[in-house]
This record gives sequence, structure tokens and C-alpha cells, in this order.
Amino acid sequence: MSKIFKLLPELNVIEDLAKAQPEIIRHIKLTQIDCGMERFPIDALIYGPDDPTLPCVVLVGGVHGLERIGTQVIISYLKTITHSLNWDADLRESFKKTRLIAIPILNPAGTAYHWRCNPNGVDLMRNAPVEADPDDTTWLLSGHRISNALPWYRGKEQAPMEIETQTLVDFFKKEVMPSRANITMDFHSGFGTKDQIWYPWAKTRKEKFPFYDQFINLQRLFETSFPNHIYKIEPQTKNYVTHGDLWDYLLQEHRKEKRPGVFIPLTLEIGSWIWVKKNPLQLFSILGLFNPIKEHRIRRQLRRHVFMLDFLQRAVRNYDAWH
Ligand SMILES: [Zn+2]
Repeated sequence: MSKIFKLLPELNVIEDLAKAQPEIIRHIKLTQIDCGMERFPIDALIYGPDDPTLPCVVLVGGVHGLERIGTQVIISYLKTITHSLNWDADLRESFKKTRLIAIPILNPAGTAYHWRCNPNGVDLMRNAPVEADPDDTTWLLSGHRISNALPWYRGKEQAPMEIETQTLVDFFKKEVMPSRANITMDFHSGFGTKDQIWYPWAKTRKEKFPFYDQFINLQRLFETSFPNHIYKIEPQTKNYVTHGDLWDYLLQEHRKEKRPGVFIPLTLEIGSWIWVKKNPLQLFSILGLFNPIKEHRIRRQLRRHVFMLDFLQRAVRNYDAWH
């Protein structure tokens, strides 16, 4: 087995998933990231027809390499869907009218080597050309250009976007932004004790994001359908404001290019502080701040979000209900 697959065993699973249902799943190698002697691929899986106008759900993970649990949750969910395709005719049928897209590891070198940032020390979620409202930003945390030795580094002024970031933007413009109805979920961990769903903007508290009304309809559907759900749902800016947020940038581009559909990019922040509280020894492990370490807690995470991810797929199939 090559070193890359040892460092990122998830890549093997991604390949196997695509092979398991070749008529429904396409495996696309988007690019490769050079890091030392290794080249790490960024892979995407597309479930459903080759028609980017169809309603779709997109799952993105591993933007921050330390936050591996998000990638694991995505892959576990894809396994469930892929196996279900063997027996669930309704599910197979649904992939004639909708798509499910996953980029489980956007920052493969960071994930392999346990870095938050990419090999250039850039925080990919601060790297897009978007300036936040200066009244609301927090020193360093909101993104800065001081040095890549500090966390939350945005990259140099006027520099092009990092390869990972540009790859995601190009992929979204081609495969996601033509969609009539899209909900994207970007998986993170390491903030707070509750699982939180954040909606845009990240850049300002003063303005609503373009699909705010549709999002509120969607939230109402979710909350009435699942009154006992586990999430705290709030604007990202209730927690902090950032420069360079990728989803802000794609929303701006969506509007600028006058795309016809609805585009709702959300962030899932899996609350990890509870695991640290219950198991303080995790503080001494670099991954322990961001990921469950004990087996039963990992398994709990892998099953915890399935109903929400199923809801997103049903929601895009029935987008007339909240559009
Ligand atoms: Zn993160």
C-alpha cells in the first residue's frame, strides 16, 4: 500500500464506494496537492446523473485537516447510501432526479499530517478574496496576513487562491452552481459543546445572505419535522466574523453570475468540547481537541447526523416546499 493510502485510508473507501455502484456514482479526481515527496489527491463523488441543473446536496469535509471526524461522518453516510442502493428502489429512483455530491477531504495534506492549514500554512476557510466588516472582526481569529506561522493565516495580499480553494471554487461553478436547488454542508469540529449548524454570512452581521428567506423556510420544515433534533441553528456571525470565507465568496459569485437557483451553504460545527470535558487526557493529543477519541464516541458521531443528512436530501427533492 502506498504511503498516501496509509496516511489517508479514507481514500481507499472513496474508491471502493464508486466501484460498488458504477451506474450511479462517478469518482472524479479533481487535482493533486504536492507536499514533500507525496502527492495527495482531492477526490469528489457524484451520485446521480451528469446534469448539474438537478437539485443537489453537497457534503464537504476536511477543510481543516485536524477536524477529521467530519470526513469520517461523510464517509460513513456515503457507505449507508451506497449499500442501501442495493435494495432500496425508491432511493435508486431518487438519483434520477437529484444528486448527492461529496468532497470528503478538501485539504488532504493537512488531514494526512494533522495540520489545520494546507502545506503553505494557509487556513483554507480564510483564503477567499472577501473582506469582512472591520467593525466586527476579531484580531487574528478573523483571518490575518501577518505570518503563516500563526493560525488563521489568509495568505499574501493579492496572491491567487490556494490550489485547494481554487479547486473547490472551480468545481462548484461547474457542478453545483447551475443547480435549481442546492444545500451544501461543510463539516467542522472543535467549537463549543453542542453540534451547531451555522448559516451565512461569515463576513458581516449587518446584512442577510441572499437566500435567507428560503433558509428560514427550510429551518421551519426541519424543526417541525424533527422537534427533538439536536442542533443549535444560528448565523455564523453569532460566533465570530471572518475574512475570506469560501461560502461567502461562492454566494457572491452565485449572485454576480446571476445563477437561477437557490444556493444555501451551511456549516456543521460538531461540538467537541464535551469529549474533552469527559476525557481531559484528550487535551494532550493534537487530534483530541477536535475529534472524539474513544470508540463509542466516534460511533455515536457516525450515527448522530444521519437523520439530518437524509432530511437535506428529501428537502432538495421537494424544493417547491420551501423555495
Ligand atoms: Zn474547521
